[in-house]
Amino acid sequence: MSGPAGRFAPSPSGDLHIGNIRTGLLAYARARQTGRRFLWRIEDLDRVRAGAAAAQLRVFADLGVVPDEEPLVQSQRLDRYAAAVETLSAAGLVYECYCSRRDIQQAPSAPHAPPGAYPGTCRSLGEAERVRRRAELAAAGRQPALRLRTENAEITVADGLLGTITAPVDDFVLRRGDGVYAYNLTVVVDDSASGIDEVVRGDDLASSAPRQAHLGGLLGAAEQSWLHVPLVLGESGARLAKRDGAVTAQELTALGWSTADVYAWVWRSLGGDGGVDLGDRPWATIDDLVDGVDFAQLRREPSVFLPPTAADASTFADGTAPSP
Ligand code: GLU
Repeated sequence: MSGPAGRFAPSPSGDLHIGNIRTGLLAYARARQTGRRFLWRIEDLDRVRAGAAAAQLRVFADLGVVPDEEPLVQSQRLDRYAAAVETLSAAGLVYECYCSRRDIQQAPSAPHAPPGAYPGTCRSLGEAERVRRRAELAAAGRQPALRLRTENAEITVADGLLGTITAPVDDFVLRRGDGVYAYNLTVVVDDSASGIDEVVRGDDLASSAPRQAHLGGLLGAAEQSWLHVPLVLGESGARLAKRDGAVTAQELTALGWSTADVYAWVWRSLGGDGGVDLGDRPWATIDDLVDGVDFAQLRREPSVFLPPTAADASTFADGTAPSP
């Protein structure tokens, strides 16, 4: 099958929490509402926990969400990332970088470079110096990172929820010093290969969109649109995390939550009981969510999730107590 598609691309580093789940459900709903395929990508080049990818897919299957195609697995696509680096390299847009994190922090920033941007230390080194630095790294058992040569410009992309996103596009890393292809490269290569023409994901990644749009242009990828949805926070106001308590699907299930409770919470978190018209009763199924969510009036503010405890039956959507 081909044609336009949306996707969910969780890193299989652990169990999904309710915030990740909400983002994935919104990506699915958006794809269904707009006639796109819904694809799933396993971003397993880094921080992988054995069994996590399958567990994440199972959580969604239990919630009634099954991707339209077999998931794409990044670790099986290294040749594609290598080919993309080759294309950029042939255009003179790739250079080796020998800097450690410390070198970068300590270097004076280049004139006109946006704050936090790579200072350009290795951008214009001569070949003799490169040979020397490469040998130095090799002696320490390391290899250079590869960076994209850019103009250090601020680039703006349009976002369906945020309006516009402006962020500096500096000489970002394409392949890390440990040989792992960088997130920004793999996302662009894979989205393009899968026909992902709209990206729905958490707004913690919004500032990556200009870099990805720039790189997509260089690689001849079709233009994408973006919809960065707000994150779910814990009680402290920091993004939801394991330390907040029962936050994963598995933990919530163990406390007695049903899939209807998950959907009811998503409904409430989007303002269903607070003035946003999402239908007059909490959602209980994926079809309710697909029918009910209105992206034109999605809130931009984050939602807070207060994890239930076994003693706290009132948190349950239907008011029932958890099973003992
Ligand atoms: N794998 C990334 C994450 O889990 C998401 C990548 C993306 O949606 O572009 O945060």
